[in-house]
Amino acid sequence: MATERLYLFDTTLRDGAQTSGVDFSLEDKLQIASMLDSLGIDYIEGGYPGANPADTELFAKDRKLKAHFTAFGMIKRHGRSVENDPGLQEILNAKCDAICFVAKAWDYHVRVALGCSNEENIEGIRQSIRAAIAAGKEALLDCEHFFDGYKTNPEYALSCAKTAYEAGARWVVLCDTNGGTLPNEIRQIVSEVVKVVPGTHVGIHAHNDTEHAVANSLAAVRAGARQIQGTLNGIGERCGNANLISIIPTLMLKSHYADRFELNISSGKLATLTQVSRAFDELLNRAPASQAPYVGESAFATSAGIHASAIMKSPDTYEHIDPEQVGNERRLLVSDQAGRSNILAQLDRLGIEVEKDDPRISTLLSVVKERQTLGYAYEVAEASFALLAHRTLGHVPEYFSVESYRVMVERRYNAKGELVTVSEATVKALIDGEITFSVGEGNGPVNALDMALRKDLGKYSHYISDLTLIDYKVRVLTGGTDAVTRVLVESGDAQGNRWFTLGVSPNIVDASFHALLDSITYKLHKNGAPHP
Ligand SMILES: [Zn+2]
Repeated sequence: MATERLYLFDTTLRDGAQTSGVDFSLEDKLQIASMLDSLGIDYIEGGYPGANPADTELFAKDRKLKAHFTAFGMIKRHGRSVENDPGLQEILNAKCDAICFVAKAWDYHVRVALGCSNEENIEGIRQSIRAAIAAGKEALLDCEHFFDGYKTNPEYALSCAKTAYEAGARWVVLCDTNGGTLPNEIRQIVSEVVKVVPGTHVGIHAHNDTEHAVANSLAAVRAGARQIQGTLNGIGERCGNANLISIIPTLMLKSHYADRFELNISSGKLATLTQVSRAFDELLNRAPASQAPYVGESAFATSAGIHASAIMKSPDTYEHIDPEQVGNERRLLVSDQAGRSNILAQLDRLGIEVEKDDPRISTLLSVVKERQTLGYAYEVAEASFALLAHRTLGHVPEYFSVESYRVMVERRYNAKGELVTVSEATVKALIDGEITFSVGEGNGPVNALDMALRKDLGKYSHYISDLTLIDYKVRVLTGGTDAVTRVLVESGDAQGNRWFTLGVSPNIVDASFHALLDSITYKLHKNGAPHP
C-alpha cells in the first residue's frame, strides 16, 4: 500500500515559549532549531517577529535550516488595510519560509474579543493569507478555539477554515486552544472539516488539559488531518502542548500508522530521540521525567522478580518496542554486556577507534557507572565523555596540572563610595616542569577562576586563544544524603565548534573548575597540542 506523507510542525519556540518558567535566549532558540532540523521536523515555528527583541533578532539571522522556518502572527487587524497594519507588515517582511497566522474561529470570540463582525473577521483571514502568498511565503492559518467554536456555530468555524484554504493557505490548522476536547469529538469534527477542506491541507494543534493531546492528534490523523503540531517533551502553557517526542515513535513504530504514513524522519534519526529529549531538558535546566513514554529512564525498566528471566529470554514479551529504536535502553538488563555495547556505540559515534574486546572498555564502563551515581550526566556533556574515553585509552596526556587555586569574593565600598561585589582568583599551575601563578578578576567567582586559568598556560596558551564560554548552567542534585552541584559549561571556538563539559562537586566553584578544566583540555586535545 502506498504510504501518505504526514508533516510535523514544531512550535516549541513559539507556543512552548509560553511555558511558565521557560525563557529561551537567542542562543537557546538557535540550538533548539538546529536540533529539530537535524531530527527531520518539517516546520519549525520560530516565534513572533516584532513581538520581542529576541524573536526579531532570530528572524533576522541566517539559519541554514532544511525545515520550513515559520513566523507566527496575528491576521490583519480589522479596520486597517494590509499595508497599514505595521504588525502584519513586520511578519510579511520577516526572513522566513512560511507564515502561520492565527485567527479566531469562534464567533463568540470574534464578537467579544475583536469587536468586529463575523464577515470582517473572514475578510481579515482572506486578505492576510493572500498577502503572505504575495510576499512569497507559504501560508498557514491556526484556527483558534476551532473545536469550541465548531460546537456552538459549526457553519462559522467551517467558513473560517474554508476561506483560508480557498485563499491559498497550504495548511488550515484546527486548534484545541483550551485543550478540553476529547478524542472522539476531535475525530468526529475533523471528519466534518475534511469534507470542506482536503485532509492533505488540514493540521491539528492540541493542548494537553485532559491529558489527551497526543491521543487527540492521532484521532485527527485518523479522521484525515495530515499535519501535526506539537512541542519537544510537550512543553507549553498550562498542561502543555501535544508531545512530539511521544507522537513521532507512535507514528513510526506502530503498524497502524507506520504502514499507512511516512515522516521526514529516518529510523537512524528516530534512534536519537531519547538524546534529543534529554538534551532539551538539560537546556531547560530541568530533570528529565523518568516516566516519559519511549524516552524516560524508566520507560523500559521492568521491575525484576518473576518477569526477569522472561525478559532476559525474550524482551518482546514485556516491551512494546525495542528501546534501541528510540535510543533508549532496557534498565533491567544493564548488565556489563549491555553497558559495554552502549559504550562501544558511543565511542563509535565519536569516531574513537578501539577493539571490541579491549579490556580498557570495562575500565571505562565502571568509571562511567561510578560517576553516574555521583551525579555526572555524560549524555549531555559529550566532550567530557570523549575526554574520559580518550584518557582511559591513553590518548590524552596531562598537558598541565593545577596544583592549587583560591577564589575570593569581596563585597565592599569602592573609591566612589558604591557598594560592589568583586571576585579574584589565583591559580597555581605546573606547566612543563615550571610553576606559574596567574591572577584573574571577574564579576563572579567562576568568571574570575576562568580568567586566571586561561591567563597563562605557557606553550599551550595559543591553542586555546579562541576558546569562548557560551553558556553556563548549574543544577543542584538532591538525591543522596548530601546535595551536590552539577555544572554544565558550553564552549566554542573560532571555527564554530561547540562542546559541552561538566563538573560535579558539593561546591559550586569546584564543580565549575572541573567543567572549565575539561573544556580547556578537550580543546588542547582536539587541536593536537603537543605532549609535555
Ligand atoms: Zn497553542
